[in-house]
Amino acid sequence: MMLKPGATIGILGGGQLGRMLAIAAARLGFHCHIYCPEVASPAFEVARAHTVAAYEDEAALAMFAAAVDLVTLEFENVPVAALRFLASRVPVAPSADALEIAQDRLAEKTFAARLGLGTAPFADVPNELALYAAIARIGVPAILKTRRFGYDGKGQMKILAAVEAAAAITEMKGAPAILEGFVRFSREVSVVAARKADGDFAPFDVTENEHRNHILDRSVAPARIAPATQAKAIAAARAIGEGLGYVGTFAVEFFVVGEGESEDVIVNEIAPRVHNSGHWTLDGAITCQFEQHIRAIAGWPLGAPTRFADVEMLNFVGEGTSRWATLAAEPTTKIHLYGKAEIRDGRKMGHATRLVFPG
Ligand code: AMP
Repeated sequence: MMLKPGATIGILGGGQLGRMLAIAAARLGFHCHIYCPEVASPAFEVARAHTVAAYEDEAALAMFAAAVDLVTLEFENVPVAALRFLASRVPVAPSADALEIAQDRLAEKTFAARLGLGTAPFADVPNELALYAAIARIGVPAILKTRRFGYDGKGQMKILAAVEAAAAITEMKGAPAILEGFVRFSREVSVVAARKADGDFAPFDVTENEHRNHILDRSVAPARIAPATQAKAIAAARAIGEGLGYVGTFAVEFFVVGEGESEDVIVNEIAPRVHNSGHWTLDGAITCQFEQHIRAIAGWPLGAPTRFADVEMLNFVGEGTSRWATLAAEPTTKIHLYGKAEIRDGRKMGHATRLVFPG
């Protein structure tokens, strides 16, 4: 079924990803209704309607469902129960099942391993005793991570020696966790791709990502890895999309390990949504990740994901935001600001994409 222009797409989450999705949806003739608990949300400004309510508020969710033709999300920590509630009333993409796997690091890594994809060695750590067993099996250094709600390095603790285990468990504040072996990677890369319900799959070129203080700082495409490694990353993303029966744009983050002939990728994380490492597609690809998501969930044909320039994406985080003015003077650099009133440490305020044309 193809959703027709004039229909209303409901978006759970009102951050910059929702804002850029709403702009892409508007360009295709859709209306957007944003649902977000925060009063001042960047996406509200560019959408026809919004609801400010908690994700647990069933009366508000029911009204939202009645007001929209399709529901999607821009925030992966939307409670699965909210998505299931909505799905009983209105079509939802991606599915609650896909969200449930991607929300939980243990389910996510188990899922990737079952598909035969490489991951860091991992173990379930429900309590301190389990952590000692996990350290004995995996060794150190290792990283203890909360199973849920981790982002930008939050809820993570590096363990260099077994004696640090008790302190690391305290740091998790009782949250279920997993232990991951520390991977000595050469680079971090991601595949952002769109998938339709009929299996049609359109990956963007592999992107290389650099983090600062655990927050994405800079992405470049194409990633500086061998073509065979790029093909492996894209095949892994395709397998993950198929395994999840995923509909929409998603991202898979990888670590690049080994060199030369033995260069390979291992899965770090699955993001069930459009992704910061795909922002360059707004300016450097024929169809951007946001339009691709709207096309996929609306049942439209996917556009070409073809990249037409070498790209460098720079995130504006906190005080670094003031760089926009200098970058705006570069003729082939595109500026995106998210309309957030207040600059805070670690807050993503916007980004720039530098386009470099061959020749
Ligand atoms: P995550 O929240 O899992 O994406 O982790 C945030 C960042 O921490 C990653 O982008 C890596 O730079 C680093 N990291 C996470 N897990 C590992 C690991 N198992 N080995 C080495 N570095 C890691």
